[in-house]
Amino acid sequence: MLDRTRLEMGAHYAASYLAYALDGAPHPFSAAFNVTDRCNLRCTYCNFQSFAGPELDLAGVAQLFDRLKTMGIRRLGLVGGEPLIRTDIGQVIGLARDRGFFISVSSNLTLFHRFPGVLQQADLILTSLDGESEAHEANRGAGSSRGVIDAIRALVATGKTVVGICVVRHGTLEDARRLLAQARTLGIRMHFQMQCLDAPITRGTLPDGTTDAELRQFWRGLLRLKAAGEPVASSIGYLETLAQWPDYRASSVADPAAHCVAGRGFLFIDPMGNAFPCTFARGQTTSVNLLNGDWQRDWDRSTPCSRCTVGPMLEFNLLFQHPVQTVINAVRSYG
Ligand code: SF4
Repeated sequence: MLDRTRLEMGAHYAASYLAYALDGAPHPFSAAFNVTDRCNLRCTYCNFQSFAGPELDLAGVAQLFDRLKTMGIRRLGLVGGEPLIRTDIGQVIGLARDRGFFISVSSNLTLFHRFPGVLQQADLILTSLDGESEAHEANRGAGSSRGVIDAIRALVATGKTVVGICVVRHGTLEDARRLLAQARTLGIRMHFQMQCLDAPITRGTLPDGTTDAELRQFWRGLLRLKAAGEPVASSIGYLETLAQWPDYRASSVADPAAHCVAGRGFLFIDPMGNAFPCTFARGQTTSVNLLNGDWQRDWDRSTPCSRCTVGPMLEFNLLFQHPVQTVINAVRSYG
């Protein structure tokens, strides 16, 4: 389990944590690279498609990955849009593999059949799973569930770690129970995250009638399900934070008393190599192009907010605020 890739990732996380704790120069250990903004689906809450434009070619991607390695990045998320829409995605993952990154790929898996072997090169697959096919397609469009379960089965059969991502829009715990039962059958874990609102990368609102009280109950219920041994990937600190969130229609707040680790622990990079502190900050802060700029030197240290419900970023923040508890959960849940 603790191969060289994971050991190096751990060492760079430790360096990142120290730099953050001592208020030193930013030393992010993780980056999410948006290989494309294009997608074959039109999920009701996602606005990435509106950014679709030029993308780095393979030579540019290789240059970017070399730069990331030099910066100390060891965990690389390949995200989109839909990464498998790029016909050269196998080569992109291969370039990441050659540089020894721990690689996760976030995919809706509807195009898995086009490149069935490609995801074998990744360490972790994250995939959208909002419920049984009717609920899933209500959020993500007709046909969005086609082939997904078969793709998960194929990946799990070859020993890949797969985590389903469910976007939470209402407080119905019964749907989560059904998803967790399905996850147990498939041999995967489920991460749950609030629908994000009010940022350039998002669109839509929570459904009419969804209340903060029922959402709080939902997150408390998930905490109980995790404690009971259900395959909930999200950490306890994450679930506790969400169970206490005051207003779920405000995905992020600028709280002067809080410190966000975006830009110091992790980065988001758009398809042309422009880096932002996090996905949510895209379009809200000045970027640094990593092909000809220097993150440590050029980033102005600003983030648009300091606390958020944004799923992966909240977990990353907890890695720096409650490292022991969150690291143990991350190793168990995400390999
Ligand atoms: S609180 Fe930090 S991680 Fe969360 S959205 Fe704001 S800048 Fe990004």
